[in-house]
Amino acid sequence: MSSDRVLMKVRDLTVDYMGDFEVLRAVENVSFDIREGEAFGLAGESGCGKSTVAFALARLTRLPGLVTGGAIEFGGEDVLGFTGDRLRAYRWREVSFVFQSAMNALNPVIPASEQIIDAIETHTGKTGDAARKRAAEMFELVGIHPDRLDDYPHQFSGGMRQRICIAIALCLNPKLIIMDEPTTALDVVVQRDIIEQIVALKAELGFSVLFITHDLGLMIEFCDRIGVMYAGEMVEIAPAEAILTAPQHPYTRALGRSFPPLSGPRVRMEGIAGSPPDLSELPVGCRFAPRCGEALPLCRHAAPAMISYPEKRCQAACHLLQ
Ligand code: SF4
Repeated sequence: MSSDRVLMKVRDLTVDYMGDFEVLRAVENVSFDIREGEAFGLAGESGCGKSTVAFALARLTRLPGLVTGGAIEFGGEDVLGFTGDRLRAYRWREVSFVFQSAMNALNPVIPASEQIIDAIETHTGKTGDAARKRAAEMFELVGIHPDRLDDYPHQFSGGMRQRICIAIALCLNPKLIIMDEPTTALDVVVQRDIIEQIVALKAELGFSVLFITHDLGLMIEFCDRIGVMYAGEMVEIAPAEAILTAPQHPYTRALGRSFPPLSGPRVRMEGIAGSPPDLSELPVGCRFAPRCGEALPLCRHAAPAMISYPEKRCQAACHLLQ
């Protein structure tokens, strides 16, 4: 159950990639909040900047990427100012990460027990039996019998390996877990199983989730609110149910039409014509204008601002709404 208290506040986040001859702006002026106990989803096509935002929030941006603007507050503290021990405590103890294909991130020649105990010993005062007991509890929490603690990664199925990664992400009781395509490499049945387990763990432990996936249907089911990104910008933020039933931004509507509906009669899916713009040659005005069937002349020279529409329960950046 999410509360109204804000856990993470992101304001005007801008991330650039420094090339030899040019600077590519991958994320520009992105703002949103993640509330306590909330699952917040980031949706959008590949390359729209979702993962770049996630890495920036976890302070994992590496050169040539660089956070060049904006602010990230976590529990009222300035995350971009964290260094040394404070930064180490922030990563894993307060914010942990389940990466895309995290199951392949387990070291194949080290038993699972050592990999989870290592995280517990490094970040808590627990060692020896106490750390092993905590590792066994985490295995149980994600539905794996603790007898299997000393097995090697190859002895587990893909779904189980992904569960171990979720156990490692949860073992320090973080307040926020960033999940970037956590189930993409798994078949749909295992995917659903794992998502249901994350929902149950979230209800039990009360952490917040930043959830990134290409699967808009899965996101709508799992998340409380969703932010939709296009070409490095946030274009709409709304409750998941409003994204499903009353999307306001033409891109959100187009994205919704490219996924099979969760219920109701079968309908022909429509893709979105064209491709997202090259970040080195962004169109003037609204970045979605070249693909937008509802574009106005104004859209091709003036970029729409992100505005809050309480009556529509959303924030959106589109001239049609202003
Ligand atoms: Fe379409 Fe114009 Fe709205 Fe952009 S601002 S989404 S081009 S209508």
